[in-house]
Amino acid sequence: MNALSSIPLMPKVVRHAVRSLPAASVLLVFVHLARNGFRGLNRLGWTEAFLVLFLLVGLGLSALRRLRRSALGAPVELRDDLELGGGLIAAAFIVVAIAGGVLFPIVYLLMAFLVAFLPRNAGLTLLGVALVFDGLVTLGAPSKSGNWASFATHSLFLALFAGLYHLVLSARIAAARQAENDAVQKRIKEVEERARTFRLISSGTQDSFSGMNQDEKWLVASVKEIEGAVGAALEVAETALRTHTCAAFLLTSDDKSLKLYDCRSTSERIQRERFNAGEGIIGGVLKRQAPVRMNSPNGLKGITYYDGGAPQVSAVLAVPIIEAGGLVRGVLVADRVMHEPFSDQDERLLSTIAGEVLRAMEVERVMTYIRKSRDEKDRFFRAIEELNRAGSPEQVFVAVLESARQIASLDFCAVTLVSEVEGKRVHKVARMTGVTAAGKALEGRSFADNNGLVANVVRYGAPLPGRDIKAMDRQVIFDEETQIRGLGALKIFPLTAGDRILGTLVAGSRKKVLDQDVLRMLEVMAIQAAQAVLRAQLFEQMERMATTDGLTSLLNHRTFQSKADEYLAQSKRYQRKVSLILTDIDHFKSVNDTYGHPMGDAVLRGVAKILRDKARDTDIVARYGGEEFAIIMPETDAKGALVIAERIREAVKAEVFQTEMGPLKVTLSLGIATGPDYGYEKQQLIDLADQCLYHAKRHGRNQSVTVAQMQGGKKLQVAEAG
Ligand code: GH3
Ligand code: MG
Ligand code: MG
Repeated sequence: MNALSSIPLMPKVVRHAVRSLPAASVLLVFVHLARNGFRGLNRLGWTEAFLVLFLLVGLGLSALRRLRRSALGAPVELRDDLELGGGLIAAAFIVVAIAGGVLFPIVYLLMAFLVAFLPRNAGLTLLGVALVFDGLVTLGAPSKSGNWASFATHSLFLALFAGLYHLVLSARIAAARQAENDAVQKRIKEVEERARTFRLISSGTQDSFSGMNQDEKWLVASVKEIEGAVGAALEVAETALRTHTCAAFLLTSDDKSLKLYDCRSTSERIQRERFNAGEGIIGGVLKRQAPVRMNSPNGLKGITYYDGGAPQVSAVLAVPIIEAGGLVRGVLVADRVMHEPFSDQDERLLSTIAGEVLRAMEVERVMTYIRKSRDEKDRFFRAIEELNRAGSPEQVFVAVLESARQIASLDFCAVTLVSEVEGKRVHKVARMTGVTAAGKALEGRSFADNNGLVANVVRYGAPLPGRDIKAMDRQVIFDEETQIRGLGALKIFPLTAGDRILGTLVAGSRKKVLDQDVLRMLEVMAIQAAQAVLRAQLFEQMERMATTDGLTSLLNHRTFQSKADEYLAQSKRYQRKVSLILTDIDHFKSVNDTYGHPMGDAVLRGVAKILRDKARDTDIVARYGGEEFAIIMPETDAKGALVIAERIREAVKAEVFQTEMGPLKVTLSLGIATGPDYGYEKQQLIDLADQCLYHAKRHGRNQSVTVAQMQGGKKLQVAEAG
């Protein structure tokens, strides 16, 4: 936003004038320098005074603008930088022009300053501006020898200064970034160490700390919170028990050492390094997992938690920090220098505080866990959502595999589908991911209903294998020929929708076990996937039913009509030929009457198959009505259509249908109309084809008739078609 435009009631013209004032002032100075202005003190006049004033106002305005923008938090534009820098350069050159070449170094300094503080593109542009100014002043000066030489020197130094400053600055920025990075890494290490002492993260795993991510921030916050809670608990103990030192030591992950977590002590010598957890009074507490109280007016032995010259401790109370399950986490120690033994009540209090310390840690641990599983759940629900959005079975498979991979980071994953082919179950790998010995070749492969795991999962409708299996490589997942090697763990879930089992979801990992949570999620996903597959399959089926004819599986009349519209429009647009064939079985009524309606249906199916086979892939074949069929043939003239029509007619004529009453043969009559010979109007072409068909019927049936033949009144000769 233009900062100056925020001044209300300022007319637009004035605003524009003000806005272009800085650039105009620089330009005017530029022009004046080019015309040999500002040369020497004695040549200064009103023009120069006005220009200097104008330039100062311009500079003031652009400085104000820049200040305003940064105050508003708006990004500084290149134009602002150029105007301010240009103004400064102009001012410097005025000084140089007046005072002579001796003052030229101020231009170098200014350039270095600009390059250092402005973005690179602004800096470079201004360097160019300075060179042009220099050209004007140096070369435009009253002809002296060596003008060119000094221009070259100036240019070289200008470029050098700018380049050098830029380099120095970049190097410093890089160094600062590196230092910052190092500091962050150091802090992460510290936090990691802390967290490990708390066992927020298991020792040895680095996953949570690879790079600064949300998890890390969470961990930092968790650790901070524990620090706060523990510190408060120690303060209570210190005050209530009047201790010299009250400190919490936590066991390291190997249980061998103790490390100070937090303390309140009058002494400076509390051991801050790791120390042996098996020695002294504290060692005894850890071993017995019970509080220990000791006192001696002459000073106690076995105090291991001070470094070097420890104070003489005359009373100690130490309680273990123990989890409900009996796992010891550390020790809470309180001691006194004055001889005042700890009482039973003191012990109860410190035990309570040890419980508090533990609880603080526990809360954070649970929070970390919840946080982790919440992320998992998020991913899980997103996966389910993705599944529900999938429209086609293919999309469902992709979504299933992708989601399974994300949730469980599987090394092998496949979806299989079961279907019945001639009464026998067949399994098919619909989709798979992951590297297998068989490679991608597995996708699309079918295998019989065998004794493999996939077949059994479909058979019993339950996940398999039930328990972890030892010899994973010897397991038959799909069939004997398809061995999947290198898996450590495997689970196959049925895709169950209602009481139907549609197939399986195969999940394999190189790791030895699959996590229980992951297995549960995969199981739920398999159910969701089954529902999605079923939905997609039903949808496809419905779509098929809406567009095809149940008896012959050809396109139905409605689809024929819309396809005809579409193809005719296309042919018309590109001025291409298009033919339409209408067919009708000859004396079909008598087939029904003689052989029965079911036999009539069988004949219809047979004829439909011949039509489908003899037509080309690009042709549209439809059942037009009862025993009438239609074919749309794009890019086909009457002659070409006649060839196909004759092929169909010959094939139907040759077909023998076996019936209980002996062999049955039928013949076909066909009418052909072609666009654009008779236009591209659908109804007109249909009517013409119908007339041709009628013509064929009247002239003896079992023949193909084109419009030309019909109008020529000729009876078809097959040879014509050739
Ligand atoms: P033409 O040679 O003049 O065509 O004589 P045609 O007997 O075939 O006469 P038409 O085309 O009018 O006869 C249509 C017959 O087709 C009437 C009807 O019984 C039979 N039909 C229509 N749809 C079906 C069907 O789905 N199944 C069976 N089996 N017969 C059908
Ligand atoms: Mg008919
Ligand atoms: Mg008929």
